[in-house]
Amino acid sequence: MKDLLRLWQLFKPYRAWILGGYLVALITLVANVTLLAISGWFITAMAVAGAAGLAMNYFTPAAIIRGSAMARTAGRYLERLVSHEATLRQLSGLRVWFYQHLEPLAPARLQEFHSGDLLSRIRSDIDALDNFYVRVLIPVLVASSASLGFFVFTALYDLGLALSLLALLLLAGVALPAASRHLGRAPGRQLVETEAHLRQTAIDGTQGLSELLVLGAADAHARRLDALSAELIGAQDRMSRISGIATGGVGLCANLALWFAIWLGLPLLASDSLAPPQLAMLALLALASFEAVAPLPLAFQQLESTLTAARRLFAIVDTQPAAPEPEGPAVTPEHFHLSLRGVSFRYPKAERAALSDFDLELPVGKRIALVGATGSGKSTVLNLLLRFWLPDAGEIRLGDLPLARLRGEELRRHLALVSQHSHLFNTSIRENLLLAAPEASEQDLEHACRTAQIHDFLHSLPEGYDTWVGETGVRLSGGQARRIAIARALLKDAAILLLDEPTEGLDGPTEQALMLAIDQAMAGRSTLLITHKPIALARMDEILVLDQGQVVERGSHQELLRGQVYPRLLGFDSEA
Ligand code: ADP
Ligand code: MG
Repeated sequence: MKDLLRLWQLFKPYRAWILGGYLVALITLVANVTLLAISGWFITAMAVAGAAGLAMNYFTPAAIIRGSAMARTAGRYLERLVSHEATLRQLSGLRVWFYQHLEPLAPARLQEFHSGDLLSRIRSDIDALDNFYVRVLIPVLVASSASLGFFVFTALYDLGLALSLLALLLLAGVALPAASRHLGRAPGRQLVETEAHLRQTAIDGTQGLSELLVLGAADAHARRLDALSAELIGAQDRMSRISGIATGGVGLCANLALWFAIWLGLPLLASDSLAPPQLAMLALLALASFEAVAPLPLAFQQLESTLTAARRLFAIVDTQPAAPEPEGPAVTPEHFHLSLRGVSFRYPKAERAALSDFDLELPVGKRIALVGATGSGKSTVLNLLLRFWLPDAGEIRLGDLPLARLRGEELRRHLALVSQHSHLFNTSIRENLLLAAPEASEQDLEHACRTAQIHDFLHSLPEGYDTWVGETGVRLSGGQARRIAIARALLKDAAILLLDEPTEGLDGPTEQALMLAIDQAMAGRSTLLITHKPIALARMDEILVLDQGQVVERGSHQELLRGQVYPRLLGFDSEA
C-alpha cells in the first residue's frame, strides 16, 4: 500500500492528463453502452408498434443511436491519442526523474549494481510503471464511476434489477481482480526479476563472448540462458492462465447479468411496471456494462509486476550518494593549491583502511607522483580528490575552501583526469574529444592531439577525426586510446591534472611517446601522477611512496633512490 501511494505521488504532476484520459475513456464507454441499450429499446419498440399497427417517433432514438455511434468512434480515437501522449510524457518525465537520482550515485554507490541490471531498471521497469496509468489508474476510475452510473440508471426502473447488476459488477470488478492479484503476485514478481536477470546474463555473455569461447564455457553459458528463459516462460504461462480464467469470469458475470435481468424483468412485464422495450434496454445495458470492469482483473494481476518494478526504482532513488552535495550557496576557490591533511578512508565493507593519516601538499604548478604496490591506495587518493567518496577523517582543501563546501560540478571543473581505465564512447573520435570541451575549435582539437602525440596517427586514418571508435574503444590499441584520453583531458584546460598509471601495459616505444606527451601536458598545471616509470619520476618535484595506505617515504627521485623501498618498487636492485 505504501508503494502504491508513493507511485501515485509520482503521477501527481500528470493530474491534468489523468483527468483528460479518464473523461475520454468514460465518454467512450458510456457511448458504447448507450448505443447497445438504446438499440435494444428501439428495435423492441418498433416491433411492438408494428404489431399493434401504431405510429411512433423514431427520430429521437435514431439520433441518439447515431450520436452514440459517432461518439464511440471519435472517443476511441481520442482515447488512443490522449493515452499515448500522456504515456510518452510520463515516460520521459520518469526517466529524467530516475536519471537525476542515478547520477549522484556514480561511481561509488553504483558499483553494487550490475550495468545490465541498471539498464533493466531504466528501461523495462520504467515502462512497467506506465502500466499503472494505462491499466490501473484510468480503468479503476472509469469502472467505479461508470458502474455507479449504470446502477443508478437501472434503479430508476427497478431496485431489484439494479441490485442484481451491482452484485455481479462487484463480483467481476472487485472479487475477480482481488483473486487475480493474489494469484498473480508470485509469478508477477518472478516475471520482473527473471527478466532483469536474463537481460543481465545475456549482456554479460555478449560482452565476454570471446572469453567464453576461449575458455570453452560458451555452452554452459547458453544453458544458463536457456534455464532462465524457461523460468521466464513458466512465469508468463502462469500469468496467461490466470488472465484466461479471469477473462472467462468477467464474460460469465456479464451473461449472468443478462439472464438475471430477463428473469427478474419478466414478472415486472406481467405486472405492467416495465414496458417490453424497457426490459430489452435494461437487459442489454446489463450485458454491455461489463465492458467497464473487464480490464480490471488483468490490471490487478499485473499490479505486482508494476509494484516490483517500482520498488526496484525506489531502491536506487532512496540510495544516499556517497558524497552528498553541500548545502548553501555555490562557492568557487580563489586559487588551486591542493592539500590533504591527516586523511583517512576506508571503503564501505572493506576490512582495512585504504588510506591512513595521509598528507599531501600540491602547490600551483608543481608535480607530485604517487608510487606504491598495487592496492596501496594510490587511486583512492584520486577518488577522494574527485569527491566520489568522502574521507572518514582529515581535511582536503582546494585553494581556500574545504572540498566538503564545493559542489561536485564546481570541483571537477578544475580537475582533468586520465584514469586507469579511461572510457571512450562508442562514437567518433571527434565526439569523444568534444565531451571535454563542447566549444573547442578544430585548431584546439588538433593542438591537444599534437601534444598528446596522437594527431599524426589520427590524421593518417581514412576518416581522420571522424573515425568511429567502436564499443569500448575496441578499434584502437591501448596506447592510442590512452593518448586520446590524454588529449581529451588537455582540452578541458583544468588547473589540476590527475593521471592514474597512464602508461601501464604499453610497449617501450609507445610509452616513450606517451611520456613525452604527458610531459608537455603537465606544463603550467599542477599535476598528480601515479606511475612507476623512472623517466617520469625523475621530472617530479616530489614523490610519495605509499604502502598499505600510508606514506612510508617522500622526497625527490634521486633522494629516494638511496633508500630501500623505492628502488625495489621500481624494479631496481637496491644494491646497485
Ligand atoms: P592502488 O591504486 O594503489 O592499486 P587502490 O587505491 O585502488 O590501490 O586500492 C586501495 C585499497 O582499497 C585496496 O585494498 C582495494 O582493494 C580497495 N579498493 C579500491 N577501490 C575500491 C572500491 N571501489 N570499493 C572497495 N574497495 C576498494
Ligand atoms: Mg590504482
